[in-house]
Amino acid sequence: MKCLICAKKCDSFEDTAKGILYYECYSCGFIMKSPEHLSDFSEQKKRYDLHNNSPESEGYRAYFQRFVDFVLPCVDTPKNALDFGCGESSLLAQILTHNQISTDFYDPIYHPKEVYKDKKYDLIVSVEVFEHLHNPKDIFKMLIEHLQPNGYLAIQTAFYQNNRERFLHWHYRLDPTHVIFFSLKSLEKLADIFNMRVIKNDAKQMILMQKKNS
Ligand SMILES: [Zn+2]
Repeated sequence: MKCLICAKKCDSFEDTAKGILYYECYSCGFIMKSPEHLSDFSEQKKRYDLHNNSPESEGYRAYFQRFVDFVLPCVDTPKNALDFGCGESSLLAQILTHNQISTDFYDPIYHPKEVYKDKKYDLIVSVEVFEHLHNPKDIFKMLIEHLQPNGYLAIQTAFYQNNRERFLHWHYRLDPTHVIFFSLKSLEKLADIFNMRVIKNDAKQMILMQKKNS
């Protein structure tokens, strides 16, 4: 099995209790679930419907605010933005719009109209999306194609901390719709492959990148 990010060789290890096999890249530390454990779309929707991300919930708003506070001080003054994979709620888009950034939102399950199709953005955000992707490189490439020159991409996905023992006890891993796990190094590698410059990360779950002038 080759790494979905850097195409280097992977080593496998197993959650023996659940019988799930994982592959970890020797080079960049990216982890993916063995393909037979990938869940399909309808199964994913059932799981998402349980999330209960009510926009009225103060906790949910605070959760996005932390992300916005990480991103906005470092991205100049974006005129427009896209929230890619917003889920059922458009709350993050609302918060950004409230910050004078006209924000579109898209979600393959809840808001499937491809509003970004013929547009380019100064900022694209994607929160808790990448760990669900079966084809992360294709989606990453597509998002970058929708960035303006010098545009920014901000991603939130919990980083794998390069420790298999801890990984096996990690609650994040146990969501059946989470199929890939990025180490910081694998995100840096992804950025590098597509000519993006990493601006900053919080070492836990958030990373901000900028499209290089080509
Ligand atoms: Zn790799």
